Parts: sequence; C-alpha cells; structure tokens
Amino acid sequence: MENYDYDLFVIGAGSGGVRAARVSASLGAKVAVAEERYLGGTCVNVGCVPKKLFVYGSHFAEDFEDAEAYGWQAGDPKFHWPTLRDNKSREIERLNGVYEGLLTDAGVEILAERAVLTGPHSIRAGNTSIKARNILVATGSWPVVPPFPGSDLAVTSNEAFYLPEFPRRALIIGGGYIAVEFAGIFAGLGAEVTLAYRGELFLRGFDAGIRRFVLEEMATKGVDVRLNTRIASVERVGDRLHCRFDDATRLDVDLVMAATGRAPASADLGFEAAGVVTAANGAIPVDDSYRTNVPHVYAIGDVIDRLQLTPVAIAEGMCVAHNLFAGGSRQVDYANVPTAIFCQPNIGTVGPTEERAREIYPELAVYESSFKPMKHTVSGRGERTLMKLLVNAEDDRVVAAHMCGPEAGEIIQGLSVAIKAGATKADFDSTIGIHPTAAEEFVTMREAAR
Ligand code: NDP
Repeated sequence: MENYDYDLFVIGAGSGGVRAARVSASLGAKVAVAEERYLGGTCVNVGCVPKKLFVYGSHFAEDFEDAEAYGWQAGDPKFHWPTLRDNKSREIERLNGVYEGLLTDAGVEILAERAVLTGPHSIRAGNTSIKARNILVATGSWPVVPPFPGSDLAVTSNEAFYLPEFPRRALIIGGGYIAVEFAGIFAGLGAEVTLAYRGELFLRGFDAGIRRFVLEEMATKGVDVRLNTRIASVERVGDRLHCRFDDATRLDVDLVMAATGRAPASADLGFEAAGVVTAANGAIPVDDSYRTNVPHVYAIGDVIDRLQLTPVAIAEGMCVAHNLFAGGSRQVDYANVPTAIFCQPNIGTVGPTEERAREIYPELAVYESSFKPMKHTVSGRGERTLMKLLVNAEDDRVVAAHMCGPEAGEIIQGLSVAIKAGATKADFDSTIGIHPTAAEEFVTMREAAR
C-alpha cells in the first residue's frame, strides 16, 4: 500500500482552503496547507475585510455632515489616508495571525511555500516532495486587466488597498462588485471619481430596478458614471494619467483602477503532470463533490468559478472535508445564495431578479417601496432606500428580496433564512415589524406595485 505523508494536502490558505483544512484535521485527518502569499487569501488581505473597513472609513464624510442637523459641530474634518491604510493593514496582520492560530490549533501543518502538483498524489512545496492521499486546490482568483495601451499604468484592487498616496481624481474601469464598491470608497474619502462601464447599465445580473436606483444614488453622491464607455488608452503625462475613451472624450486623473473581473488562479500548478484539466478561462471543472477529472484531486472556491464569494468557498470546503473524512455526501445548495454589494448605499439581495422571476413565475406579484430613511428626515440628505419583495402569486411564496439602502446586507441576511425556508407572503404579513426600522417595511408591504 502506498505511504502518504498526508491525508489531505491543501494548496491555498484562503477562506475555502483554510476551512477545509481545519475541519478535515478536526475530523482526524493529517493535513497540511501550502500558502505562498498570505494566510486568509483574498478575502482577508485584499478583499472583503479591508474593503469593508474602507467602506466604514469613507462613510464618515457624510456622517460629519449629517451630524450638524443633529446639533453636533464637528468643525472642519480632514482625512488622512496613511492613517486609514495603515490601521487597516495592522488589522489584516492581526487576522493573518488569527488564521495561523486557527490552523495550527487544529493540528494543520502550514508550509509557507508555493506548491505545485507533480502527479495525481504528489506535490512539490518549495524543495520538498510530498505524497498526499487527497489534494485540494483552493488557489482562488486574481484580478484581470484587459489589454489597452497603457494598461500597465492601471492598478487593481490588490494595489488599491496599499496606495502610497490617496488620489485626488480617480478613474475606475468596470461595472461589477469591485468597481461600484471602490467608486463609493474613493468618493467618500474625497476623490473626484469617474466610473467608466462598457455596457448600458452597470451591475449586470442584478435586479434592473436596483441597478437604476444605485446609478441615481451614485450620481447624487457626485460619482461621474459614464455608461457605454470603453477605455481606449492611458498615458502618463507628468504627474497625471491622461485617459482617452472610445467616444473620443478624455480625462486626466491621478489613479486608474481596473475592476474588470477576476480569473481563476490555476496557471503553473503542475496540472499537466497530474492530468487535471481546466476550462478555457482557467476554471477547474468539478463534479458535485468537488472532484476534478483526477480522482483524489479536488478543487473549491474562486478557482472553480461558480460563485466568487467567500461564504460559498467556505461551504464548499466544509463539504469536501465532511465527505472525505466523515463519510458524508454533502452538497452545497447554490439556490438563493444571498449577497451584498457594499456600494453606497449598500445592496442586499437574495433570489432571482424581477426580470428572471417573471420568466420562472408567470404570476409574479412585485411589492416595492422607496422612501427616505428616517435619519435623513432630520439630516436633510436626499438619499433614499429601495426595497422589493417578489412573490409567486400561485403559491404565495416569497421568492426574492432586493434592497438598496443602509445595512442592506444585514437585513437581507435575515430575510434569506425565511426565503430559504419557503416563507409565504402571508408569513411576512403576519410577522410583527420592529419599529422604527427600515427592515419593518419588508413585513408591511400590503399592495403589489405590479
Ligand atoms: P465582476 O465580474 O463583478 O465585474 C466585472 C466588471 O468588469 C463587469 O462590469 C464587466 O462588464 C467589466 N469588464 C469585464 N471585462 C471587461 C473588459 N475587457 N473591458 C471593460 N470592462 C470589462 O468582477 P469584479 O472584478 O467586480 O469582482 C470579482 C468578483 O469578486 C465578483 O464577481 C464577486 O463575485 C466577487 N466580489 C464580491 C464582493 C462582495 O461579496 N461584496 C465584493 C467584491 C468582489 P460586463 O458586465 O459588461 O461583463
């Protein structure tokens, strides 16, 4: 019988890899994880966590303004970028330590090395050759910058978290999660922000009503959103970046950030030697148990390119661990995965868009409410909140909830439990609201708008 060094060897200590490694070790497996960059992966280091800290930081500008109507005189607030950047980095370093502790406490061996497959059961990590009964590829994804003259002058989200200087004027290219989140961050922190999106309306795939609403809110906050606009070139001229667009317009900025998607990080991992196949975009195809085409080589998270979301990678990692070492046959349920975009105001969403729901449910009732949040009745700010509830009128089931407004993610997380459990509109109606909250609107929507 073959002698293996480990029951499970994980490549990549991001959200999914760490969870799979920890749970496997807690189930008695001998586990190692190799990580060449930073513990915690994209989410902890250059994603969700520092992004949310920046979102908090960027909101203070409005908070200082709003405070005046509530009687506070905050003086003339000034923003100091190095303070936010470095305090954020300190917190990330603390979290790196927490992740290290979580792994070592669980008995997982950490190899701070790049690991590559050398066969279906073998890995080389640094100079060490290792044999593993099972291998899990959890290498995540990496930002993609489309080719255009001067594209090398553009930063991605990776660098945006560590900018030496805060830009006075910033151009963001793209119209997905990262583009709208960073547009809000940079604008809140005081930059003049232009967002250039190639299509008709950004946030493709999200509910159209929510997308239009966010567009209006972003414009109100001073972000210059240019739709149907492609970058043609970027050139350094003195201390600024001279940008040209395909419609012949031009713009001078201090920073160009490409937020144009993330590709699976699957290159140069020794897949040829192991016989693991990848799709044209680098994604690793897997079955319902996250098995690749090679038995005992598994893959989860961004590198399989299903849903590039931390909690999804974690759920996939749990599945692999349980199925391998607890004899389970778990699967991840990809239906009704809730998600939030931390643009300003936030988007929270669960279930299909209204457009998609109309195709699935011929008798769709749409409940909708748009209002000024209570806080702004006194602050005078023009910001509004939009909430939508989609109901299959045939069986009264609530099939989706969409929101754009403060704390939308917090509110939709709760609603997603109800929707997953199959709650009906009658259940929502008979639920007592919490007053005064924005969330109570979801249980007091009486008349369908459409
Ligand atoms: P997204 O896939 O969300 O968006 C990419 C954007 O870039 C789209 O608007 C796309 O346009 C545009 N784009 C793609 N290629 C080009 C090109 N060649 N030229 C111009 N524009 C282009 O990617 P992000 O980078 O924003 O984020 C990556 C993933 O990370 C997200 O999909 C999400 O899963 C995850 N994420 C999650 C967050 C959260 O949970 N809050 C936060 C941040 C990221 P088009 O629509 O026309 O294709």
